[in-house]
Amino acid sequence: MHDLAVVGAGLSGLAVAREAVSRGLDVVVLEARARLGGRVLGHRTPAGIYDLGPAWVWPALQPRIARLVAEAGLTLFEQTEAGAFVFQDASGRTQVLPHGYAQEPPSMRIVGGITALVEAVARSLPPTTVRLQHHVQDIRLGDSGVEIAVQAPDGPVALSASRVVLAIPPRQIPKLGFAPELPPPLTARIAATPGWMAGQAKALALYDRAAWRERHFSGSAFSQAGPLGELHEAGLPGASEGALVGFFAWSPQWRDAHRASLHSLVAQQLGALFGDAAGQPREIIVQDWASESFTATEADQAPLREHPDFRPCALPSPWGDRMVLAGSEFAPESGGYLEGALAAAEAAFRA
Ligand SMILES: Cc1cc2nc3c(=O)[nH]c(=O)nc-3n(C[C@H](O)[C@H](O)[C@H](O)COP(=O)(O)OP(=O)(O)OC[C@H]3O[C@@H](n4cnc5c(N)ncnc54)[C@H](O)[C@@H]3O)c2cc1C
Repeated sequence: MHDLAVVGAGLSGLAVAREAVSRGLDVVVLEARARLGGRVLGHRTPAGIYDLGPAWVWPALQPRIARLVAEAGLTLFEQTEAGAFVFQDASGRTQVLPHGYAQEPPSMRIVGGITALVEAVARSLPPTTVRLQHHVQDIRLGDSGVEIAVQAPDGPVALSASRVVLAIPPRQIPKLGFAPELPPPLTARIAATPGWMAGQAKALALYDRAAWRERHFSGSAFSQAGPLGELHEAGLPGASEGALVGFFAWSPQWRDAHRASLHSLVAQQLGALFGDAAGQPREIIVQDWASESFTATEADQAPLREHPDFRPCALPSPWGDRMVLAGSEFAPESGGYLEGALAAAEAAFRA
């Protein structure tokens, strides 16, 4: 029997596991996907790693992120905002403005992407701790712990642990079987909690050179026409290749309906915003989180208009003694963000 089973190898689950391992506990992390990181995902080119999930941290406001970045010896750089900003109205007409999204404190990126942060946490775990492609299906309360039923590549596996931490997006929780069942009002509350950005999609456009800079564009834009709604420069420090990234303004359903032409529609929009050369990227990568079943559910397909009021959720007896909810959406502060994923891990470990 393990001391602790952690479900989910996103930043939150890995951080809980790291803390438990550092206290000498025997920990297993069960991850449904064939990779680490959950919503943290990088696209690699010879120049480096581009973020297809979260890209920004604000260490001036986020003490846990600041500490982790420092401990891991990672390098931060500021999100580029220098240059002109483009506004595109619903008819597709563009207007060039002197400046755009700049914030104080600025959004910061990490050399190596957010992937570097996840890898730094994972490195502190013994090599056999994380089991990829281990999809947790059922959790049953036993006399001295929990019995966990997992679908693994070679078939069903049963594991037992004294305690379990669920570090998965809230709406993934009601997909699991629990014996005894969780109280229905609690399940309803969990099911009503959206996964932050779970319905979002990003397009990354890569270029041999950042031609928009020669025309004094920052690479930032806001569009009411779409398909992309908010765009930013995504280049890597010191790289000669250029990159732009955009969040889709279109709903998951609309993206699906235009799936076959999405890349060319994105390229057309980039050309309209930043000039002809920007309309001819070397490659476009679309990462649609809404169609990732371990991130988003049917309910996450509805667009979020504002940042939800995420809160911790304590479980009643008899589950409360054996199971804790982590994951960014259950954080005591900064819920939804990477900082929240770490805050939730800290709180889960304390609990
Ligand atoms: C497009 C996008 C942009 C974002 N931008 C930012 C940003 O710039 N800054 C910021 O701070 N935050 C941002 N976020 C939010 C940030 O990604 C999350 O706060 C953070 O990654 C959540 O980590 P987590 O570990 O709580 O959950 P997740 O990363 O979702 O990890 C949960 C893990 O559980 C696994 N899992 C699910 N079900 C099961 C199961 N049954 N069995 C086993 N494993 C399971 C999943 O595969 C996943 O690996 C963004 C998110 C998205 C999608």
